[in-house]
Amino acid sequence: MIGAGLAGSATAASLAARGWQVSVLERHAGPAQEASGNPQGVLYLKLSAHGTALSQLILAGFGYTRRWLHRLQRGIDWDGCGVLQLAFDEQEAARQGKLAAAFDPSLLHVLTQEEAQTLAGIGLPSGGLFYPEGGWAHPPALCRAQLEHPRIRLLSHANVLELRKAGGSGRPGTPGNCWPARHWWCWPVPPMCAVLQPARSCRSSAFAGRSPACQPPLPAGR
Ligand SMILES: Cc1cc2nc3c(=O)[nH]c(=O)nc-3n(C[C@H](O)[C@H](O)[C@H](O)COP(=O)(O)OP(=O)(O)OC[C@H]3O[C@@H](n4cnc5c(N)ncnc54)[C@H](O)[C@@H]3O)c2cc1C
Repeated sequence: MIGAGLAGSATAASLAARGWQVSVLERHAGPAQEASGNPQGVLYLKLSAHGTALSQLILAGFGYTRRWLHRLQRGIDWDGCGVLQLAFDEQEAARQGKLAAAFDPSLLHVLTQEEAQTLAGIGLPSGGLFYPEGGWAHPPALCRAQLEHPRIRLLSHANVLELRKAGGSGRPGTPGNCWPARHWWCWPVPPMCAVLQPARSCRSSAFAGRSPACQPPLPAGR
């Protein structure tokens, strides 16, 4: 897996849960240091009123994320406090009305201005659409939790520069700084190897014994 943000961490966790040994190559010192490094993300459903396949996927992903978040510390790493989207104009109010008609009220429902103000505890210019099971999450905490699996190894300071086909025999070569990826390619995808940043910038001991070009010197006497 390349990248230890939300996408890479979730995919690694999913593969590990299915029995795969997963190596996650991350160019930074740790997970979630780019887009997923935000201290707080809003968790809600971006649905369509037309029952699209994307809406089904979003619903499934929302439930999956909520189940994961329950493993984290509520109030520190996440909270299911609900999310309120204001109906800031007539067009938005109409869009929200259609969504509310299309989905179960336990997922989302319309609030009047008065109801919204009571819920939010502040004065508001309008009512809106309320997602009772929405909330916020600390994405780095979710990434870290998903990477904590005995079948996942996080290899930090591993900047992948290129993916190369490495022969068709199922035994890719391991030239220099090339990471052998034979444990994650799947038939019929040909074996691939991830070419990492040159040795001078490889600092992690994670390379020891795997990629000679990046291997740090052993401590004296070993
Ligand atoms: C300011 C901001 C606010 C946001 N707010 C929300 C929100 O409220 N709610 C919401 O749902 N979404 C929000 N998002 C979107 C959400 O954060 C992103 O969709 C999500 O974090 C993307 O995850 P990712 O794993 O695809 O990317 P990233 O988190 O960027 O992960 C990619 C990882 O891959 C690594 N990588 C990349 N290239 C290489 C390489 N060649 N070799 C090794 N490693 C590599 C990177 O270092 C990084 O760790 C927000 C995004 C931003 C920027």
